[in-house]
Amino acid sequence: MRVLIVGGSLGGLFTANILHRIGCEVRLCERVPGTLAGRGAGIATHPELFEALRRSGVTSDLEVGVHVPGRIALGRDGGVIGRYDFPQVLTAWGRLQTLLTEALPAGCYLAGKELKTIEQERGVVHAGFGDGTRLSAELLVGADGLRSTTRGLLAPKPAPAYAGYAAWRGLVEEAELSRPTREAIFNHLAFCLIPGEQMLGYPVAGADDSLAIGARRYNFVWYRPAEDSTVLRRLLTDDSGRHHPEGIPPHLVSRRAITDMRADAERLLAPQFAEVTRLATQPFLQPIMDFCAERLAFGRVALLGDAAFVARPHVGMGVTKAGGDAMALADALKAHPGDLPRALAAYESARLRVGRFIVEHGRNLGAPLTPVHHSDAERALAKTNATPDFVMRTAAVAPALPF
Ligand SMILES: Cc1cc2nc3c(=O)[nH]c(=O)nc-3n(C[C@H](O)[C@H](O)[C@H](O)COP(=O)(O)OP(=O)(O)OC[C@H]3O[C@@H](n4cnc5c(N)ncnc54)[C@H](O)[C@@H]3O)c2cc1C
Repeated sequence: MRVLIVGGSLGGLFTANILHRIGCEVRLCERVPGTLAGRGAGIATHPELFEALRRSGVTSDLEVGVHVPGRIALGRDGGVIGRYDFPQVLTAWGRLQTLLTEALPAGCYLAGKELKTIEQERGVVHAGFGDGTRLSAELLVGADGLRSTTRGLLAPKPAPAYAGYAAWRGLVEEAELSRPTREAIFNHLAFCLIPGEQMLGYPVAGADDSLAIGARRYNFVWYRPAEDSTVLRRLLTDDSGRHHPEGIPPHLVSRRAITDMRADAERLLAPQFAEVTRLATQPFLQPIMDFCAERLAFGRVALLGDAAFVARPHVGMGVTKAGGDAMALADALKAHPGDLPRALAAYESARLRVGRFIVEHGRNLGAPLTPVHHSDAERALAKTNATPDFVMRTAAVAPALPF
């Protein structure tokens, strides 16, 4: 079967590798010209992510990321106020992108190909691209992210919803951290909780994916309320006054926004985390979104990864879920050889319920950060889910699926 995959980020890379290994002829079409390498920040891992890597042909678990023994919570004065033993491997988007790109069959990655149109007829789907070319296949997989063009062409509604808060994210070179800060936080997933906000950080691979001690990086994520029409609008406006409503590129985040964020960090956070924000070379912003697609299969087209569901990052499952989607698609194709409608129906029914559950779990974990609560039950959830103990036990821990 010929398969066209739209989107060359991690969802697309998992799909290309896993479907290639069950005998499909894959082509991966990414709109960004050149390479995506060198982008991204930190990613939590879960057992399912390693399974997806293995099925993609990536075998070296140990080299994927940095091992931490557990979690700590810091008070405003920098002292440890809570601990939770939870060994985990923490990795970087760039590290996974390298491993999955190296595993691809030669010549299948087509950069600079932006999907514009989809046409379906009996037995075949045709994709038209911005460079004027057209490619055809038996199956097209839309792995083109939160603002998926594939989904926009086939099911433009519902649209992703803003959760009312945004994350400042960034990376610091391990070697630049002061010794006391390195010793206090570097070897853990560390949190600092203040009312309505959450800071967390953890070690990841360094430049050139290095895992050597001294050459790694520290990744931070600081969730802060940001009312849509005022605060968020200001954060997504660059120094020239241009507003970027769909996300501001890291290098355009305004100097004023970064200066204010660092001043707030000095005032509000444990001193170790204030240092992290001070040293981060290019802090960037991620508005937090929720999205659930209502369908995943449209004739010969399937949605996968962030094109299908986006859960808040507290679950730390975006990449793992994309890998899980790719494995489920491969399983469905193998279970129904020669019967694509049945295969895609099986894929859709398996992954709709997983995606819905993970998105809902993300909303629950994010309840303490959600600025507006609509009921007493929501207010109660926001309170119980805000304690250091709850946060350390649940953040970036794969939830047990109830089915
Ligand atoms: C450069 C980059 C860095 C990231 N860094 C992090 C990180 O540090 N931490 C984290 O938790 N998550 C990160 N993510 C998000 C993470 O990859 C996803 O949440 C998860 O892996 C699911 O990915 P996805 O492949 O479904 O979607 P995405 O990762 O969003 O990828 C979608 C891809 O589709 C491409 N695309 C979009 N429209 C078209 C089109 N019309 N035609 C062709 N291609 C198209 C985009 O350029 C992009 O490469 C990053 C994503 C990208 C693209």
